[in-house]
Amino acid sequence: MQLVHRLREAERFFLRVSFGADLLEDLTQFCAARNIRLAQFSGLGAVRRARIAYYDQSQKRYYERAFSEPMEIVSLIGNVSIKDGKPFVHAHIVLATGDGRTYGGHLCKGTEVFAAECFIETFHANDLVREPDAQTGLNLWTSETSDRM
Ligand code: ZN
Repeated sequence: MQLVHRLREAERFFLRVSFGADLLEDLTQFCAARNIRLAQFSGLGAVRRARIAYYDQSQKRYYERAFSEPMEIVSLIGNVSIKDGKPFVHAHIVLATGDGRTYGGHLCKGTEVFAAECFIETFHANDLVREPDAQTGLNLWTSETSDRM
């Protein structure tokens, strides 16, 4: 007998992120280790410190902001696609301070987890690829030539 084709169901994972883990790096490593190339995810929890960024559209560059205080993860949302041939995690986060102020932005390395829960839904499909976009200066999804609208 010879295996000629395998149909794989999309998988869904509930994850508990470890105390002290770097949130973005942990998500990236999880996807790389399981060859997750296309996914969406959400999450919540708390961080010990954080780094988030704001993209300045006129200057076409990110400005990072660091927070050294514990905060709640009110919302974490993102996706996984392919950049430079590897799974790339793009995540945005909203964080709340003890007095209820919120800060949000593009999740950067350096966000250290106190406790967090994530739900990842994967898809088995053609690669969704990010490439540099001259108009925005961002790495954006490219459209598939066969399905161009
Ligand atoms: Zn972003």
